[in-house]
Amino acid sequence: MNNYQLLVIGAGPGGYAAALRAAKLGLRTAVVENREAGGTCLNRGCVPTKTLLHSSRIYQDICSGSHAGITADSVQIDMGAIFAHKRQVSEKLSGGILSLFKSAKVDFISGTGTIVDANTVRVHSAEGEQIYTADDILIATGSVPARPPIPGLDLPGVMTSDELLNGCDHLYRSIVIIGGGVIGVEFATFYNDLGCEVTIIEGLDRLLPTMDRELGQNLTLILKKRGVKISTGALVQSVEQTGHGLTVRYSAKEMPGQAEGEAVLCAIGRKPCLDGVFGEGLQPEMNGRSIRVDSNFQTSISHVYAIGDVSSRIQLAHVASAQGTAVVDLLCGKENSVNLEIVPSCIYSRPEIAVVGMTEQEAKEAQIPVKSGKCILFGNAKTVIMDGDRCFMKLIARADNHCILGAQLMCEHSTDMISEIAQAMANHMTAEQLAQAMRPHPTFEEAMAEALNDLIEKLNH
Ligand code: FAD
Repeated sequence: MNNYQLLVIGAGPGGYAAALRAAKLGLRTAVVENREAGGTCLNRGCVPTKTLLHSSRIYQDICSGSHAGITADSVQIDMGAIFAHKRQVSEKLSGGILSLFKSAKVDFISGTGTIVDANTVRVHSAEGEQIYTADDILIATGSVPARPPIPGLDLPGVMTSDELLNGCDHLYRSIVIIGGGVIGVEFATFYNDLGCEVTIIEGLDRLLPTMDRELGQNLTLILKKRGVKISTGALVQSVEQTGHGLTVRYSAKEMPGQAEGEAVLCAIGRKPCLDGVFGEGLQPEMNGRSIRVDSNFQTSISHVYAIGDVSSRIQLAHVASAQGTAVVDLLCGKENSVNLEIVPSCIYSRPEIAVVGMTEQEAKEAQIPVKSGKCILFGNAKTVIMDGDRCFMKLIARADNHCILGAQLMCEHSTDMISEIAQAMANHMTAEQLAQAMRPHPTFEEAMAEALNDLIEKLNH
């Protein structure tokens, strides 16, 4: 049977969420995938990076346990085993997606899908070519690492996150990371925690340049204290093979600079994956490099929809999944209850960073009157127990109606706490309403209550 009601191209978090939702709502559904189920997220993104960070965290905790009376003589790092564990985790979760497809009766078609016309997809695989038809087609082909045209980026040892995650049997002596965004910072945390010499080169004026200034500044202080070299406002000119390994040459404030590393990671962003997605003569309207979609995820080609990294301004797994569910609900005439405008975003550095909504600066630029409340976690019992770094929580609310507009959290477990703020925003809660709940002691969450008290005081004066 080659005819479906919904045919999804790409089995990443966007595609698999859409397919499972469609099957649940009774649509005859298939997913075409040319690599592993789970997409970038499970195989080359979120999950592998967090698995590596779990390993480096264990190592770091053992090595820095002396404040709590724990010391160890000979802690070994086995890079082969670290990467094998990473592979096992991905395989287990990817296999889980295939099982879910099977029990939901979603057909999994291995191969590369090309849209031939509004209702037809040609799938190319080792077995040959097959034609499938569908009432609706959903593009969820995700994104791939971008490589800018900088001389030397094709040298051996210069990698994107895809190649770096393939693993290496030894720990690099040193690594230069081009790009101080989320991916660069997470890899810097991993390699620095294992004892590798790390240099980050960022083109803009601080790490995490798209986020609240204080997050990038605080993270810079913490990483520098741990020995990470950081050059900001630094534009990479070339990478060269030299006697010591690879030399990255850059200019910062019109002065030349250079950094040496055994390996180089290029983490300067990702681009939508569109290779071979559209057949000859079929060209959807674009929005820069992404597929343009309307508010219903409809592309300029009728019956063809797009979600996730391939079309979204924000490239995050939970955004792709939420869009996947939403587009199927729309197709089936159901109301979708997830607010797609409120997007929490997390960085699994040490300490973790989690943000949602507006920063104070963004609110000011949008001429929204706001107040912010803050708590620095110096006196937070849990932080003192764990001998934590300088951490803080910042909450933003509208000055007129006190509704919560955003939060920037930088502390242990902040990635698990940010949904509390997202929930408050989705329900238009005020600072006073959010402050009504008691926070248990001792927890990092207690700092939330303090930040709220500070915010409420400022809102009332
Ligand atoms: P993808 O996950 O990219 O899946 C698309 C799938 O489509 C792929 O499997 C691809 O092989 C397949 N495909 C492409 N073209 C075709 C075709 N023509 N035919 C058949 N199949 C095709 N996000 C977070 O939310 N949290 C994180 O912690 C996080 N960490 C990340 C760390 C790294 C190193 C990277 C690179 C990304 C990270 N992301 C994270 C981003 C997240 O992985 C993506 O936003 C998410 O995977 C996008 O989902 P998607 O479904 O749009 O596409």
